[in-house]
Amino acid sequence: MEQFTDVVQALAQGKQPASNNHISVYESSFEQKDGTNVIMAKAGTEKYLVAAGQGELFNSLTGDTVAGGKVCGLTHENRIVLNKFFAYTVPQAFGTEIATMGLGDRLGVASPGHIETTRNRKVKPILAQQSIRELTLLNRTMTDILDAASFAVFQEGYKDGYGADADHIKLEKDIEYALELGFSFITLDCSEQIRNDVEDAQKEFAGLPVDRKEYYNHYLNKTFEVQGLNITFDDESLAKNVLVYGEAIDFMEHVYNEYISKAEKAIDFEISIDETETVTAPEAHFFVAEELRRRGVTVQSLAPRFCGEFQKGIDYIGDLEQFEKELHEHAEIAKYFGYKLSIHSGSDKFSVFPIIGKYTEGLLHIKTAGTNWLEAVRVIAVENPDLYRRMHVYAEDHFEETLKYYHVTPDLESVAPLNETADADLPTYMDHDAARQLFHVTYGILLTAKNEAGEDLFRKEFFDTLLNNEDTYRQGLVKHIGRHLDLLGL
Ligand SMILES: [Zn+2]
Repeated sequence: MEQFTDVVQALAQGKQPASNNHISVYESSFEQKDGTNVIMAKAGTEKYLVAAGQGELFNSLTGDTVAGGKVCGLTHENRIVLNKFFAYTVPQAFGTEIATMGLGDRLGVASPGHIETTRNRKVKPILAQQSIRELTLLNRTMTDILDAASFAVFQEGYKDGYGADADHIKLEKDIEYALELGFSFITLDCSEQIRNDVEDAQKEFAGLPVDRKEYYNHYLNKTFEVQGLNITFDDESLAKNVLVYGEAIDFMEHVYNEYISKAEKAIDFEISIDETETVTAPEAHFFVAEELRRRGVTVQSLAPRFCGEFQKGIDYIGDLEQFEKELHEHAEIAKYFGYKLSIHSGSDKFSVFPIIGKYTEGLLHIKTAGTNWLEAVRVIAVENPDLYRRMHVYAEDHFEETLKYYHVTPDLESVAPLNETADADLPTYMDHDAARQLFHVTYGILLTAKNEAGEDLFRKEFFDTLLNNEDTYRQGLVKHIGRHLDLLGL
């Protein structure tokens, strides 16, 4: 800790410390508040908050005493202190006034690059965003991802606001937990309540214990005019929509009344009906939204399942004309009800971004996650070819195991043989669809892989390489995510 002496002394004199041979400081993080001066700094690959001064902020931080100041680890406790004294480090809701982009950071090191990418654009970053699936695969918790996002915001001196999304939550206990932790965005996954097995809809509807007459009065043979779009329901389509989405809508209503409307702060509430086999027809989207409206449920965004395939890490697969027609209709329905259309698995869908940008006109939430991991792998390929090669082989050997969690269909035969690829060409794997998907889905396996002695096979070396090349990683993200935003018009 002694190597921090110069930094502490500068802080004690009220000056912004400079980097030296041992320590690099993050200049944008420098803060002077309530008699305390604090800055984030890095020694080796480890980051710390360094503070000097007196008063409540100084006393609240926990760390080692150095030259009368403190050198504090990036612990959960110290994150809570930052949240208390620097409001901009607390996640917030954005409502529907501005577009938002989900930027899940599986590694806890991508957020600085994400912040730089979204700064001064017509979009706000949702920096923490992780599904329970991803947390489980990486042995991380919701607390870990909030800590990482808060610290990144502080490091960058970013004061324009960010959100935190408890993504694809299915259970009430997880909603409760996420709200308690301070998440500002809840994505309710209703896939377990959406039926894929409806056969004779009218017959089944006739026996349903619901107020059928009420449904008939409101929908049957009525034409709803939605932004120039006409939506009608006949016996068959009404019965079908009630059966497929009825239970899911009850669940949305319950969660809204029980948790979202009672939350202590504003929450962005998103409904996800995308992770199901049933493609959401525009008329089904309208039905769900109209039912939510009738029941007094306010949502900030809704994610339909679009036609075609949104596979992880690669461009859209499907009929572009059909997609454009349906996306347009979905966007109009969202505008009519006043919420954002949400696009999941939205990374790398370059061929449809201009369409999405054109029709949503900024009433948009788009989620990305794994693509920043692929940019991290690209950094490894450039800076540590030997590590890249070992990870590549391991990923190929373990690819099959991931198919339990992910639907991807890469043609692995098309991946160039590793032993015929020169070091200088390794980064081009990250431009190849099948290789991208190979890495996209094996992240959990790679980062938790152990040798026989129980030591990490790649994890430590991977993070060390990334943290020693933070600027390369940042630049890669600014370029790659920036390309998404440029095409979306944000
Ligand atoms: Zn989804």
